[in-house]
Amino acid sequence: MANIPETREIDPIICERCAEQGPTCCRLDPGMEEFCFPVSVKEWERILDHAGEKGSFVQEANSSNFVDNIKRLFPRERELVDKLFPWHKFHLRLATDKQGGCVFLNSEGCTLPREARPYYCRVFPFWVTGNRINVFTPATCLAVKAGKNLRGIRQAMGISEAEIRDLHGRLRMAWGLPPREGMALLEQSFTQYTKIR
Ligand code: SF4
Ligand code: SF4
Repeated sequence: MANIPETREIDPIICERCAEQGPTCCRLDPGMEEFCFPVSVKEWERILDHAGEKGSFVQEANSSNFVDNIKRLFPRERELVDKLFPWHKFHLRLATDKQGGCVFLNSEGCTLPREARPYYCRVFPFWVTGNRINVFTPATCLAVKAGKNLRGIRQAMGISEAEIRDLHGRLRMAWGLPPREGMALLEQSFTQYTKIR
């Protein structure tokens, strides 16, 4: 992975404008919480260091809908996903309010410093499959609207390809996968989502 400091300050105004206008990627439809991305213990601890609120997280069951959704993100690593999110176990996710907004969202955007946010938040709307960078294309994403293609959306978000790959690799490791698809697990651990005590 590229050697990029995790603390680099990129706080795109476009996401703040998006938060003002809504709905933003920081909000989901009420009732769809089981589809929310997981937060690993490593990410949870980092957020607690900044925000200090255990109530900002929810233990969510590894439902079949949730696991299938994660498998769509890692289509060639489905067996590993099953091991990471076993049936009848739980993972952590960000808590949401009654309208589906993340607890860390306000009208000006995310209240967490960028370096404390979950990796999924930091890499969105991009994703890496194999060696290829893809873009999720939610119709409401201002960056997608403004940028139109990968390069334009990167420019709108103020992020380079190297940074996307770096963040995605960090996300993979935090979630329990090897840093890149096809690599061996450096430190095999299936306790990434241990229950909060
Ligand atoms: S942590 Fe911040 S960036 Fe991530 S969903 Fe919540 S408000 Fe959005
Ligand atoms: S990534 Fe897109 S959808 Fe998410 S806050 Fe930024 S502009 Fe909005």
